[in-house]
Amino acid sequence: MAELQAAGDMEAIKAVQVRYLGRKGQLTQFLRNIAALSEAERPAAGKAANEVKQFLEGKISEALEQLSAGQADQGSAIDVTLPGRPAVYGSLHPISQINRQIMDIFIRLGFDIVEGPEVETDWYNFEALNFPKNHPARDMQDTFFVSSDIVLRTHTSPLQVRIMEKQPPPVSIIAPGRVYRCDSDITHTPMFHQVEGLLVNEGVSFGDLKGILTAFVHQMFDAHTSLRFRPSFFPFTEPSAEVDILCVMCRGKGCRVCSQTGWLEVLGAGMVHPAVFENVHYDTAKYTGFAFGMGVERIAMLKYGIDDLRRFFENDLRFLRQF
Ligand SMILES: [Zn+2]
Repeated sequence: MAELQAAGDMEAIKAVQVRYLGRKGQLTQFLRNIAALSEAERPAAGKAANEVKQFLEGKISEALEQLSAGQADQGSAIDVTLPGRPAVYGSLHPISQINRQIMDIFIRLGFDIVEGPEVETDWYNFEALNFPKNHPARDMQDTFFVSSDIVLRTHTSPLQVRIMEKQPPPVSIIAPGRVYRCDSDITHTPMFHQVEGLLVNEGVSFGDLKGILTAFVHQMFDAHTSLRFRPSFFPFTEPSAEVDILCVMCRGKGCRVCSQTGWLEVLGAGMVHPAVFENVHYDTAKYTGFAFGMGVERIAMLKYGIDDLRRFFENDLRFLRQF
């Protein structure tokens, strides 16, 4: 028993077992020698030896069980002082964040959000928006063609036509979504996000357009941001304008970001062209409206001072965690 208690591991316990109960063990030897005893001594000796054998076998298996139970305890030990493992939460992509901010501003101004298909017919993407077939204005947008008549939409403007086809004026909608152009460099990616706006009613003027877009810029950037409307051309608006804000980097002094002009383009806009109204059977004598569009990535770049558009799509967590 002393030897068994001193045995600290499986090997030591097995050694005790072999020493007494093995084929050449002491107790086994004793049992074999019982036959040499006198007939009077044999029964008592045999009985005693068997009792010792059973007792030893019991104690050895007990010792083995204790040993394996101890090892199991160690394996499942819980250290309650260890710090917990925090759950890793994702967060909204900067483009989603800016998109939501834009939506929030226009919702407060009374616009409804609408969405439409990214694979578009030539009619909705071009023709109905006053881009006739073979018109040079189509070259302004490098188009991905699915077939000769089906394209990946190059702008969110098809939503203007889709909504006006479905409902009579008044209309005030905002349409966010992905658009596609066959273009890729530091300021262009083949897919980017646009937000389209359209407001149609009786008596809508260019002054209303300026008011809405000024309110938007002041909420998106800051309340003192200067902006200017510069004449431009889009087939589906007349007159058309591009909207610049005073450069957020140099405050108008001129820098690399604004190409030394002091101004940054943020929006395209204009009064809806009567040809577009005719395509959706709106009464051009009664109704006027304005439309505008902006690139979400561009707004995000200006707001956060990001110089490379491609960063938004590389999914580098060191970049994304900053937002
Ligand atoms: Zn600048």
